[in-house]
Amino acid sequence: MPATPLDKIIREIIATDGPMPVDRYFALVLGHPQHGYYMAQQPFGLEGDFITAPEASQMFGELIGVWFASIYQSLGSPKLINLVEVGPGQGVLMADMLRAAKVMPGFRDAVRVHFVETSRRLREIQKEAVGAQGFTASWYDNFSDVPAGPMLLAGNEFFDAIPIKQFESRGGAWHERYVGLTDKGELGFVLNPAETPLSLIPDWAQGSADESIAEVAPVRSAIATEMARRLARDNGAAIFIDYGHAESGVVDTLQAMRAHKYADVFEEIGFCDLTSHVDFGELGRAMAQGGAKVLPVLTQGEFLRAMGIDARAQQLLRNATDEQRDAIEFNHHRLIADDQMGTLFKVMAAVSPGMAAPYPFAEP
Ligand code: SAH
Repeated sequence: MPATPLDKIIREIIATDGPMPVDRYFALVLGHPQHGYYMAQQPFGLEGDFITAPEASQMFGELIGVWFASIYQSLGSPKLINLVEVGPGQGVLMADMLRAAKVMPGFRDAVRVHFVETSRRLREIQKEAVGAQGFTASWYDNFSDVPAGPMLLAGNEFFDAIPIKQFESRGGAWHERYVGLTDKGELGFVLNPAETPLSLIPDWAQGSADESIAEVAPVRSAIATEMARRLARDNGAAIFIDYGHAESGVVDTLQAMRAHKYADVFEEIGFCDLTSHVDFGELGRAMAQGGAKVLPVLTQGEFLRAMGIDARAQQLLRNATDEQRDAIEFNHHRLIADDQMGTLFKVMAAVSPGMAAPYPFAEP
């Protein structure tokens, strides 16, 4: 297989600096300004590498829009509300949320759309998507640049794209996993020979079996804490949907994907998506630390059913052609079935400290 431009760049860095930690590799593969996967590739849809929930069905974004519209009302319908999306991809979730929520009195005039997106290429696509709903938007590289004020915040498959570190236990000690060159001169995992101080290993990983992998995502946690600080200061709510586990545990979830199939994380570098599962236990603790009220995690299937996806599907089916019917039924199933996205995908919500838990979330 011919080396990709990023493959060469990463080898050059290793040749001069030595092996790099997994999070640096992760960040380069996705975010290298010129050759990074999200900068250069077309990841989405049947022709791309994966299909996300909003890309699968309009029902996903509509139901989150309805969830936000009701929170907007419970906030007392403020004159201005920041509707913020992190990692918006092709802007489909935002467009579907806006279409569903703008029927709520006052919402259409109050809403300001803000996108946190690093890819300039995707920003253009997002602009068209919200433009089609009659809205304009503002863009930021970092969440911390989003203006203050009441906020409704969403992120679908955002945190899985934020780099992780990996540590491996060997003979009672922990060592950080790096990307370096194997004996054959190929890119592969190597362990930092220096022991990692135990203070860097989370409690839930300590004492695990030999060769366990502990994944830690300091950047993810920092972003989540920052978001929670906003919720503690200004009124609002946040909802994050991603694949992952509700409780922390030792697992190796780094994965690459190309054309809807799992791929080797060291092959076709820059042409495959690279992600890891989201540890919702840590994400929740990071948000609680920022002062938000974090609500117990639901599965995607539980959330969408409670929000009325079955009734919405019936409604869409009534006005559909035969071909549309098949797609509606197929994607309805895809979003909620246990062997599809229904169980692996989790939904975490957080609200300002004084607020009641919005339906269908339980109080903590
Ligand atoms: N939410 C969309 C896309 C998910 S893919 C959907 O569900 O279809 C991940 C998205 O996050 C892409 O838009 C990618 O460009 C963006 N992204 C990746 N790393 C980011 C970062 N560090 N900051 C902001 N956006 C990022």
